[in-house]
Amino acid sequence: MRALTFDNKREDWDGSTGMVLENVPEPRIATGEVDQVLIRVRYTGFCGSDRGIWSRKAFGDMVLGSLAAEGGSRRIFGHEMMGEVVAVGSAVRRVSVGDTVSTESHIVCGECYQCRRGEYHVCSNEKIIGISMDGCFADLVKLPERALWPTDLAAIRPEIASIQEPFGNAVHACQVRDLKGQSVAILGTGAIGQFAILVAKGLGARQVIGVEPDASRAAMAIRLGADAVVAPEAGEHAWSADPSLRGKILELTDGVGVDVALEMAGFNPSVNNAISVVRRGGTVVLFGVKNGDAVVQDLHRVVMNGIRLEGVVGRRLFSTWETTRRLLEDKSNGIEKAIWETILARGEETVVDMAHWDRARFEAVIDRHPKAILRWS
Ligand SMILES: [Zn+2]
Ligand SMILES: [Zn+2]
Repeated sequence: MRALTFDNKREDWDGSTGMVLENVPEPRIATGEVDQVLIRVRYTGFCGSDRGIWSRKAFGDMVLGSLAAEGGSRRIFGHEMMGEVVAVGSAVRRVSVGDTVSTESHIVCGECYQCRRGEYHVCSNEKIIGISMDGCFADLVKLPERALWPTDLAAIRPEIASIQEPFGNAVHACQVRDLKGQSVAILGTGAIGQFAILVAKGLGARQVIGVEPDASRAAMAIRLGADAVVAPEAGEHAWSADPSLRGKILELTDGVGVDVALEMAGFNPSVNNAISVVRRGGTVVLFGVKNGDAVVQDLHRVVMNGIRLEGVVGRRLFSTWETTRRLLEDKSNGIEKAIWETILARGEETVVDMAHWDRARFEAVIDRHPKAILRWS
């Protein structure tokens, strides 16, 4: 079968980029793998973390460490997908052959301290599909039943069904606080930030302000329903907030500041921008990922203003998926339509057929568009 891979016998992690389309053996359900499900992949989403893998800027330790633990050399990437069940292990009950499924990308253990308390999204022993185990950028993928999310293609279009996982990231970030009636700033409007604009509005936020330096992303944020978009400027140091940003946000919020700031860029100045624009008692949701240390500016103000900083990872299993389904299937909120028509440009350029895979052409697509989708069958 076809798969997009990295192989450390073929290439060196640090000396290479991209993913290689190659033929690999098909996965099969072995005797004893009673909870496993074989899925024929139809569509997959190409994620921000896949961009990090493509450029070798992220996840190297996890990919190489898990390959060493498995005693293997090849990793199949990909963790956002929609496909059709083609075979099930003997103990599988919740899905059957022919069903359409998407998948949670974090495979949790069910046994650690957090899992036993129902906090699966912070499992101590999780594996991530397409990073620390083989993923779905392939014709077939084998996954445990407990990760699968049955999806009704009569209620949601297939391309969108394949990106419920990243959309769920935005849903999780927007559920840290009840956004109903709140003012929200979204710092960084890449794919997840754009989803977050739709989700925040869909969950009843009264005002959504984007903070985004890129003009085309800013324009898209407005088309998606942001009430205003402000371009941040550089601060004094590489890590500093834009000194003028707080004043601009105060002007838009009757001098108060936003109730909730979602940091979705993952740059140090953006973290400090997020802290600078929330009101006293406000919440900063930290979603953007950055390796290594960061400087928090004016910690005194964080403490004395009672600002809450909260890191958000993954999706709550499976309550976030329930909300995701409700938001995408409810046609009255316009969310599915906005994702398809605006973020995905009706599939033009953004839906890439694997029958015509071309590495250079794909690189141009992910340069131009916030989100890309691969069609496998
Ligand atoms: Zn993803
Ligand atoms: Zn666990």
